[in-house]
Amino acid sequence: MENEQRKAAPKSYPKKKVSEAACPVSRKCGGCQYQGMAYSEQLKKKQKQEESLLGKFCKVSPMIGMEHPLHYRNKVHRAFGRDRKGNIISGPYEAGTHHIVPVENCLIEDEKCQEIIHTIQGMLKSFKIKTYDEDTGYGLLRHVMVRRGFQSGEIMVVLVLGSPILPSKNNFVKALRKVHPEITTIVLNINDKKTSMVLGERDIPLYGPGFIRDRLCGCTFRISPGSFYQVNPVQTEILYGTAIRLAGLSGKENVIDAYCGIGTISLIAAAHAKKVIGVELNKDAVRDARRNAKENHITNADFFQGDAGEFMLAMAESGERADVVFMDPPRSGSDEKFLSSAVRLSPEKIIYISCGPESLAEDLKYLSGHGYIVEKIQPIEMFAFTSHIETICCLRRKK
Ligand code: SAH
Repeated sequence: MENEQRKAAPKSYPKKKVSEAACPVSRKCGGCQYQGMAYSEQLKKKQKQEESLLGKFCKVSPMIGMEHPLHYRNKVHRAFGRDRKGNIISGPYEAGTHHIVPVENCLIEDEKCQEIIHTIQGMLKSFKIKTYDEDTGYGLLRHVMVRRGFQSGEIMVVLVLGSPILPSKNNFVKALRKVHPEITTIVLNINDKKTSMVLGERDIPLYGPGFIRDRLCGCTFRISPGSFYQVNPVQTEILYGTAIRLAGLSGKENVIDAYCGIGTISLIAAAHAKKVIGVELNKDAVRDARRNAKENHITNADFFQGDAGEFMLAMAESGERADVVFMDPPRSGSDEKFLSSAVRLSPEKIIYISCGPESLAEDLKYLSGHGYIVEKIQPIEMFAFTSHIETICCLRRKK
């Protein structure tokens, strides 16, 4: 707690140096809305936005910012294609389009992951691997995604292909690993659909186990290509630590972790609770969560695959109770089915983790109109240089 408050003191954040590191493609890329703005200013702006959206529910605590706000993203994704001259290019899509913006060095993404993508780009010609053309459906390589476990050092490379055959695949793996022996797994993901989703449904491990492991808050987590994993692991430890502390678990509680992903919050909370139930829609993530429980020798956590709202409704209808509900929905927030069932389960506390303050405000309006008091609102920086805001909110049932 003290440590977090010390970190929250605005004067400890970089003021000038970072704003000078402006990115030459930031306008086109659109990924960083706040490039060129001093980091301390970004924090102030986000704080103001939080206060105007959420201040009516409770005082907003000062945002916990980052000490080192550059190259924090553990996951890098690049679309592949060709420019007008036929040269291979890779980069994110220009905002709202499918035009690739070639990027040399993204300031918020991990440098090692980017280096690996540059190496792959340089190998394509000699391996006669064509990039995929979205209009004609011709070509092979659509995207590359690289994820690095910041604590474990394990690295996963995912090659997203339009069809399942990679020419000279063994030599490709050998050549890539010769330059980057630190890569621990390489996966082919097959996406043969006309879609703007990056990943297709089929994964074929080419090298290594097909997943990486990483550590957070003392637990080890395996992460499959399609599973959600927080992109800013340094701040994630603060996020989860704060969430668990606000829940005030004593070891006697029945806990629900809704939208649980690979079971991170569930398994960290399990050591402080009687029983944890996690629910998550993505099948790969649920499989990861179950394995993660085993690998961490946790026996009081169960995971269910399905829609969180449906699951909560079924729990409420069968007369179950919960003491604490953690919920961490996507940016669009939760839905009424979930919220009304959560209220019926009548937990003493709801710990709401949100990456969308607008939808959070909507959901808080519902919960505070149905018997809950908002006790604490704690913004935590997870997305420096972008306008995205992460918030933890602690709600308590009225006596
Ligand atoms: N708490 C996790 C994951 C948060 S991201 C963590 O910190 O890592 C939100 C998660 O909600 C994703 O894993 C996504 O697959 C899942 N999700 C999205 N819609 C859902 C729904 N309707 N029901 C259950 N889970 C859902």
